[in-house]
Amino acid sequence: MGVTTYATASQKGWVEVECERCSTRYSCLVEGYGQASDTILPASDDTLRDAARYASSESMKRKAAAVPCPKCGTYGNAHVEKVERQVGRIVFWPSLVVLTILLFAGLAAVAPKTPAWVLLIIIVVAWIAARILANVARRMADPNQQLDANRRLAQERMARGTVRMGPPA
Ligand SMILES: [Zn+2]
Repeated sequence: MGVTTYATASQKGWVEVECERCSTRYSCLVEGYGQASDTILPASDDTLRDAARYASSESMKRKAAAVPCPKCGTYGNAHVEKVERQVGRIVFWPSLVVLTILLFAGLAAVAPKTPAWVLLIIIVVAWIAARILANVARRMADPNQQLDANRRLAQERMARGTVRMGPPA
């Protein structure tokens, strides 16, 4: 067991984004936070600081990608996929638990003594059903279904001065 060293970095600045639909360029004022740790080799402080700084600039990019295009209201694909993945997870695991419990309870009511393989089938069925529910939820979660609302959101940010058209000035 080595000693773990950490470095953190935070920065605030403008990140330029190009809309994947209409190619409009806009800039977002975002704050990023990053952390780096090292246990294997005693990395130099500079290396850790650089890694933390890199992580914080990546987090700035992710935050800028979470701002829709002020002109057409479109979010980039990476952000859409992230939102859909999150919603899918939120729906999948609770669905799996609830469906498994319901199916087990139903089976126990009908046939109290069931062989183990039937229980396995129940878990598989619950798994598939939860996957289907999660996929439906993912499709409904696509934030590019409400382009007008997205555009309003981006324009509100422009009014607040945290989004501007074109490069950061
Ligand atoms: Zn656009």
